[in-house]
Amino acid sequence: MSDCIFCKIIAGQIPCTKVYEDDACLAFLDIGPISPGHTLVVPKKHYEAVSQMPAEEVAALYRPVAALAAAVKDAVGAEGLNVLQNNGRSAGQAVDHLHVHLIPRWTGDGLGFRWPAKKADMAVLAKQADAIRKCLPS
Ligand code: 5GP
Ligand code: ZN
Repeated sequence: MSDCIFCKIIAGQIPCTKVYEDDACLAFLDIGPISPGHTLVVPKKHYEAVSQMPAEEVAALYRPVAALAAAVKDAVGAEGLNVLQNNGRSAGQAVDHLHVHLIPRWTGDGLGFRWPAKKADMAVLAKQADAIRKCLPS
């Protein structure tokens, strides 16, 4: 993708602060960190959403995530860490090259976490689960 900022970073046309690289992915620090150590893990091949990616490539992208999450957390002395991957504008995706955020967290860091849980209706949950199962490939 010639106009994709992350493809340009992967191609070395735009600099980044690299922390890790393998055949499938590149990890670098976010240029607009929401906490110290905020890191992005990016597949080398351009995909917009995780749903478009073959399962083996998703596995290859996530293979180093556990070690990277531990390293990022230790390096900045964080108490916790969010692993976040946004798909689509409505979900907060601004860069249309799939990426995984590793966001170090501290109690009282002010980032917050909106999680407006509602009481579930079990009949509605059963219907939703059925609909999801029907959409899964057989
Ligand atoms: P999204 O909202 O798409 O999930 O997150 C995109 C992230 O990419 C943002 O946190 C933003 O700061 C980061 N970003 C955008 N452009 C660049 C760039 O050129 N270099 C780096 N290192 N990060 C970028
Ligand atoms: Zn791209």
